[in-house]
Amino acid sequence: MEESTRPLAALAEVSVERLRTIGAKRTAALAELGISNVFDLLTWYPRRYIDRTKQVDLSDLTVGDEAAVFGEVTKCRSARMKNGKPMVTLEVKDGSHTLGVVFFNQAWRERQLPVGTQAMFFGKVGEFRDQRQMSNPVVDVIVGLLNEDRDPGRVGRIVPIYPASGKAGLTSWELGGFIEESLRRAGEISDPLANARRASIGVVERSRAMHDIHLPADLSDVAPARRRLAFDEFWRLQLLLALRRKRLEESATGISHLVLDADLEVAPGSPLVAGDSLVRQFIAQHRFALTGAQRRVLLEIAQDLRSGLPMHRLLQGDVGSGKTLVALTAMLAVRGGGHQSALMAPTEVLAEQHATSLRRDLLGLRIPDEAVLSGSREIVVALLTGSTRARERQTVLDGVATGAIDIVVGTHALLNDELQFGSLGLIVIDEQHRFGVEQRARLRENAKAHSKSSSDPDLLVMTATPIPRTAAMVVFGDLDISTIDEMPVGRLPIETLWADNEKKIASCWQRVRDEVQSGHRVYVVCPLVDGSSKVEATSATDERSRLAMGELRGLSVGLLHGQMKPEEKEIVMQQFRTGEIQVLVATTVIEVGVDVSQATVIVIEDAWRFGLAQLHQLRGRVGRGPDQSYCYLLGPAPSDESAIRLDALVATNDGFSLAETDLALRGEGTLLGARQRGRSDLILASLQDDLDLLEAAREVAYEMVAAGDISGMEEELRLFVDEAEATYLFRS
Ligand code: ADP
Ligand code: MG
Repeated sequence: MEESTRPLAALAEVSVERLRTIGAKRTAALAELGISNVFDLLTWYPRRYIDRTKQVDLSDLTVGDEAAVFGEVTKCRSARMKNGKPMVTLEVKDGSHTLGVVFFNQAWRERQLPVGTQAMFFGKVGEFRDQRQMSNPVVDVIVGLLNEDRDPGRVGRIVPIYPASGKAGLTSWELGGFIEESLRRAGEISDPLANARRASIGVVERSRAMHDIHLPADLSDVAPARRRLAFDEFWRLQLLLALRRKRLEESATGISHLVLDADLEVAPGSPLVAGDSLVRQFIAQHRFALTGAQRRVLLEIAQDLRSGLPMHRLLQGDVGSGKTLVALTAMLAVRGGGHQSALMAPTEVLAEQHATSLRRDLLGLRIPDEAVLSGSREIVVALLTGSTRARERQTVLDGVATGAIDIVVGTHALLNDELQFGSLGLIVIDEQHRFGVEQRARLRENAKAHSKSSSDPDLLVMTATPIPRTAAMVVFGDLDISTIDEMPVGRLPIETLWADNEKKIASCWQRVRDEVQSGHRVYVVCPLVDGSSKVEATSATDERSRLAMGELRGLSVGLLHGQMKPEEKEIVMQQFRTGEIQVLVATTVIEVGVDVSQATVIVIEDAWRFGLAQLHQLRGRVGRGPDQSYCYLLGPAPSDESAIRLDALVATNDGFSLAETDLALRGEGTLLGARQRGRSDLILASLQDDLDLLEAAREVAYEMVAAGDISGMEEELRLFVDEAEATYLFRS
C-alpha cells in the first residue's frame, strides 16, 4: 500500500469538527442527520446532479416538459382555496424571466421559501394565465447558487444536490462544501478489491468512485462511480452474512445422513428389493413421478443431508409447485437413519392439512421396529397445535421423546419448551414468510435446545412468497437457496378475470354455478377488514348468508373463518373436500397452502384491498388439479397502484415476475423491513437493477471468508455492527 493512501474505515475516526468549515453549530446540525465523521459525510451521496455546463434557461422551458429550474423567489403569497385548503404561490426569477410556482395544501412552503430564497424546482412545466407554472414541484433550497461570486469554482460545472434538511438548517450547498473539503483532505483512499477483481467485475477504483460520485467532471462519470460504491454496499452485506454463516457452522455439529442420489432418481413403478431405502420405496411407489425440478432440489438437499454440517436451506417454489413432496422425501431420508422430523406451519388449518396429506402419502410404507411382533410398523405422524387437548398433547410429548413418533407436524406450539425430541434430524418450516426473518435464527436455537441429542438438526425453510432472487440473496443471504421452477405436468394455467362491473360480476357468479354443477368446488374470499379477526369473521358470516340467499341460492354454501374452533374448521374443510359443501365462503385463513384439488374457482371480493403477494397466494388455492381453473377479482381499483396490481395478476401466473412487480411498487425498504439497521446497508445499490453486482459481491465475500482472510475489510465491517456482534464475528 502506498504511504499516501488510507483505508476508508480510517475516515470514520476523523470527526467532522476537524474540518475547517465546521464548528460547534454545524456539528450539531450534522449530528441530526446522523453524520458525525468523515466516513459518514463521504457516504452521504448526492440525490441528483445539475449539469451547469448545460443549464436550461427559464426562457427555454416548454409546456409539458419535466424540468429542473433555478431561481430566486421574488414573491411569496399564501391564500386559501375555495375548499378552505391552503395554497402558496411563488414567483421565481432567473434574470429577466419568470416562473410561477404553486403549492396546494403545503402551507409550510411559505416559511420554507421566503422572498430572496434561491432554490431548485423540479417538476412538470404547465401553464396558467399565459405564464409558465409548476404545481407542487420538488424543491431543493440552494442558498447562493445563483450568486456566483460566493463560489466561482462552481460556475459551469456539475453540481451535486445532496439530501439536505431544512430542520437541521443545512443546505445542499453547505453539505457539498463539507464533502468537498473531506475529499480533499482524505486524499487517496486505498482499495481492498484487487485489480484483477475490479477488472473482472467491471468496477472502477474505490478512490476514483468516491471522488466521482461527489464531483463528477462529466455526468457520464457518475454511473461507474455509483456502480463501484453499490458493489461495496453489497460486498459488506455479503461479508457479514458469510461470516455469520461460518460462525454458525463452526459451532454446529450436524448429522451425516445416508442418502443416495440414485434413490432419488428412481422411476415410479420400479421394482423394489429387500433393503431398499425408505426414500427409494417411497418414490417408486408414489402415485406420480417427481418433476424434474423436484428431483433437482432434492439432489441439492441430499448433498446437505449427507454433509456433517447442518443444512441451512431455503426452498422456493411458486404456489402449487409441490414443495410438500420435497419436504416429505427429505423427512424420509432422515427417518431412514433413525431420526425424527418436525414440520412447522403458520396456521392450524395448514398444519392439519399437512398431517392429513402426509399420512395419506405414507400409507403402506413400513419401517423396521424390533419392539413390535411383525418387526416393522407404519410411520407415525402426530399433530400438535395450540388447541391440541391436554391428554392428546401428553401422548404426543411422550411419543416425540421416546421416538415412537417419527414426524410431528404443528404450529408455533412446536416451540414449546416441554417438547423434547428423542433425536431431531430435520426441521421444515413451511411458508417461512409468515414467520418473519428474525424468527428464523430463534427457531434454530430453540430446536437445538429441544433435542436430547447434541447434534444440530438440518433446517429447510420453504416459501411460496416468491422473493425476487436479488432480495432473497440479501434477506436470506446466509441460507442456501433451492428453487422449484417447474410445475407438475398437466396443470392448465389459471384464467384470471377482473370483474369490475355488474355484468362481469354476474358472469362470475354464473361461472360459479356452472363449475359447481360439473362437480367442482369454489372458494369465495371475503373483503379484508381492518382491525380484528372478529370483525372479519362477522363480515364473512354476513356475506355467506347474503350469497346463500342471493347469487348462490340453492347451492351448499359453507363458512370458514379464524374465530371458529379448530374442530369446527376441520369439519368444514372435510365437508368441502368431499363436496358436501360446494362453495366455501372464507376469510384469508385459506390463504396459505390449503390444497383441495377439486376446487376450480376462487372469487376474491374487493380484490384491491389485498397485496399482490397475497392475491397470488389466494389464487394458488385453485388450479391444483387437472381441470381448468378460474380466479375472479371483484370490484374496482380506487387507485392507480391497485389497478397496476390487478392488471399484473390478470397478465401473469408467474409468481416470480409478480414479485418483481411488487418490489417495484412497494420499494425495497418494505421488503427488507426490520432487517435494516441504521443507515448502514443499501443506499446506492438497488435490488432490482444490480443483480450482477450482488452476485459478484457474494462470490468475493464467500471466497474471502472461506479463505479466512478478510483483511482490508474488517475495520470497515465493524462500522456496521454493534460491539457484541463484532466480538462474535471477528474473533480469531
Ligand atoms: P406448494 O408448493 O404450493 O406447497 P403442494 O406441495 O401443496 O404445493 O403441491 C400442490 C399439489 O400438487 C398437491 O396436490 C400435490 O399433491 C401435487 N403434486 C406435487 N408434486 C407433484 C408431481 N410431481 N406431479 C403431480 N402432482 C404433484
Ligand atoms: Mg405448501
